[in-house]
Amino acid sequence: MTRQKIIAGNWKMNGSLSSIEKLISGLRSVAENFDSQVIVSPSHPYLSNVSQLLSGSSIKLAAQNASHETSGAFTGETSVSMLQDFAVDYVLVGHSERRALYGETDDVVAKKTAAILSGELTPILCIGETLEERQKGITVDVCNTQINTVVELVGVEAFKNIVIAYEPVWAIGTGLSATAEQAQEIHKAVRNNLAALNADIGNGVKILYGGSVKASNSADLFAMPDIDGALVGGASLDVDEFVGIIKSAG
Ligand code: PEP
Repeated sequence: MTRQKIIAGNWKMNGSLSSIEKLISGLRSVAENFDSQVIVSPSHPYLSNVSQLLSGSSIKLAAQNASHETSGAFTGETSVSMLQDFAVDYVLVGHSERRALYGETDDVVAKKTAAILSGELTPILCIGETLEERQKGITVDVCNTQINTVVELVGVEAFKNIVIAYEPVWAIGTGLSATAEQAQEIHKAVRNNLAALNADIGNGVKILYGGSVKASNSADLFAMPDIDGALVGGASLDVDEFVGIIKSAG
């Protein structure tokens, strides 16, 4: 099965209006020339500007977070319907920084995924093991438990509209990428886990790799049969690096 590659940039809590304008103008002309779906994910205050800057381009917009609540007394939170007002297409959910720094459990991640799906946006569901979990040899169990908690709430068929990002925690922002072979092993195990529940869903689901992806290591990762693109943090803030990654995906 051919799965269109996705190259998604997670800008995290970085950038300013002027740096974002420069980044987008550098990306717009390039993104149209390649087959991959390019996505950018600014901080919430910039969603409106970025949405306008992307008007007429093939680049899609992602939010970095959403509440599972619909409205009410939740200071500092953003609902899915608010994101819809800004032409957001994708929402990151379960990023390891949200899990580790803001206490998001597998159950919270599942509820957020359900809310994003209800708003007809596409969750980019982040999963991944810590270094300690990898050293204990439980990487596949950890990743499949993170996914299965979501499956229990929304059902396996919902994964037709979910993108998975495998991001080993020890590789995020550290400069230490998983090797292409290490990443492929986990992508295959995660795909097989879903395929055991529904073969079409398992074969069709897009699984991105994230963790210190750069223009110099992306081609090796993308050559793997179960790696369908990348979720890129640091390197997505540098237009030349990000463009290099997009080009390497073909
Ligand atoms: C991320 O934050 O999703 C990420 C993969 O970061 P980096 O590319 O900087 O490791």
